[in-house]
Amino acid sequence: MTAARHRPQRSCVACRQVRAKSELVRVVRTPQGEVRLDATGKTAGRGAYLCPSRRCLEKAVKQGRLSRALASPIGPEVIEALRAALSEADGGAAAPGKRVANAGA
Ligand SMILES: [Zn+2]
Repeated sequence: MTAARHRPQRSCVACRQVRAKSELVRVVRTPQGEVRLDATGKTAGRGAYLCPSRRCLEKAVKQGRLSRALASPIGPEVIEALRAALSEADGGAAAPGKRVANAGA
């Protein structure tokens, strides 16, 4: 038995940084054409990976990289869901002076 495990790597569609797949957020376009955040990383379909950071999300959306990677337009509700998910992951450290209020406190 070897201690080393295979760690799949993917690159962020926004900044192109290569990271362990487990450190990235996967967005998937399902065979039904639905685009959504794939929390499990196992949803069937075409996937695009992003750093868990709002900066990379905004860049990927603004520059059309996410829709290009998925070969599908990204609806505003999908972007909102991604923003919500990533603002949790961000922890606020990377976004000085900007706090996202928690809905339903
Ligand atoms: Zn990135």
